[in-house]
Amino acid sequence: MSNQERTNQETGRRLVEWFTRNGRDLPWRRDYEPYHVWISEIMLQQTQMERGVAYFSRWIDRFTTPCDIAHASEEEILNHWEGLGYYSRAMNIQKTARILCERYDGRIPDDPEVLRSLPGIGPYTAAAIASIAYNRPVPVVDANVERVLARLFDIDTPPKQVDTARRITELAASLMPQDQARDFNQAVMELGALVCLPKKPRCSACPVMDRCRAYELDIVFERPVPRKAAAYIPIEVATGVLIHDGRIFIQKRPASGVWANLWEFPGGSVEEGETAAQALEREYVEETEFHLADIMPITTIRHGYTKYRVSLHCFYCGLNGSSSTPVLHAAQEYLWVRPEHLGEYAFPAGHRKLIEQIRESPEFTRRLKQK
Ligand code: SF4
Repeated sequence: MSNQERTNQETGRRLVEWFTRNGRDLPWRRDYEPYHVWISEIMLQQTQMERGVAYFSRWIDRFTTPCDIAHASEEEILNHWEGLGYYSRAMNIQKTARILCERYDGRIPDDPEVLRSLPGIGPYTAAAIASIAYNRPVPVVDANVERVLARLFDIDTPPKQVDTARRITELAASLMPQDQARDFNQAVMELGALVCLPKKPRCSACPVMDRCRAYELDIVFERPVPRKAAAYIPIEVATGVLIHDGRIFIQKRPASGVWANLWEFPGGSVEEGETAAQALEREYVEETEFHLADIMPITTIRHGYTKYRVSLHCFYCGLNGSSSTPVLHAAQEYLWVRPEHLGEYAFPAGHRKLIEQIRESPEFTRRLKQK
C-alpha cells in the first residue's frame, strides 16, 4: 500500500468514527432493514430530510412489506406519496415491489447490478441500497459526496463532468474502509449535509480539516466548481375550479406522461395573444366540451417543475349550459366531488396548493351554495 493509499484509508476511518458519534438518528438507520433503506433512498431524492422522515414513517406504517405495496391500489399509493412530487417515483416503487414479490419472495436483492435492473433504481440508488442495507463495498456518490471530495482533494473541474465523476468515485473507493462501506458512505453524505455545507461550511467542526486541500488553500468557496447554470423555461398555465350544484369537477390524467394518474382541475398553457381567462375557456372546451360562465380570478401560484418555472393562473368558474356530463379528451375519468372529499384524491403540487388556498374562502363557499 502506498503512502497516499494509507493516508486515504486513515481519512476514511476518521470519517467513520465521526459518523458513529454524530450521525443523525433516522428511522431506517435503527435496523438497516433493506426494505426501509430502499424506500428512504427513493423518498429522499429531491426531498428535505424532515419532510422525508414524516412521509417515510407514514408509508412504513401502511405498507409493512414490499408485497403490501404490490397489492395496494394505485390510488392509495399516490395518496401516500402526494406532496412529494415526481410521482413516477411512487409508480416505480410499486412496479419494483411487484417484481420483488413475484420473483424474490419480497426480499430486496443485495447485488448492485440486479438492483439497477429494477424500475426507478439507478446507479446511485443501487449503490446506496447495496452498501447501506448490506454493507457491500460500493462507493455512493451524491451531491454531498461530490462537494466534500471536491474540497478535500481540490478538484478543479465540475463534478458532473464525466472524467471528474469517475475520479470522484475512485477517490471515494480509495477512502472507504472495505469492511465499513455502510458507515463510510453515510459518513461522507452526512458530513456534506451537516458540516461541509455549500454556503456556510463549518470547517472548525470537521474531522478531516487537516486533510482538506481547499481549506489549506483558502478556496473552500471555489469548490466544487459549478457547471453552467441550467436555463429555466417560464410557462404560463391557466386552470379553473368548476363548481356546479355544490360539487367540484375533477378529472384523472392519462396513465402515462406528466403527472400520470393524478387528479386535476382542467386547464393548460396560455398561448401567445391569449389572456389566461381566454386560455381557460379554450382548454375547457378542448378537454371536456364544457363552456364556462361566471369566470373569476382567484390567485396565481408559482412553482417549479423540472426545468420549468410555472405561473399557474387560477380561476373559479361555472357551467354555461345545462349538461354536466363532459366529453373527455384529455383524461381517463371524471368526478363531481363534494369539497370535503377533495382530500381523498392525489393532485399535482400546484393544484394541491390551490385547494389549500380556496378551502376557507368565502367565495368558494358562496359558489358551492349557489343553485
Ligand atoms: Fe469541507 Fe471544511 Fe471539512 Fe474541507 S475542512 S471537508 S471544506 S468542512
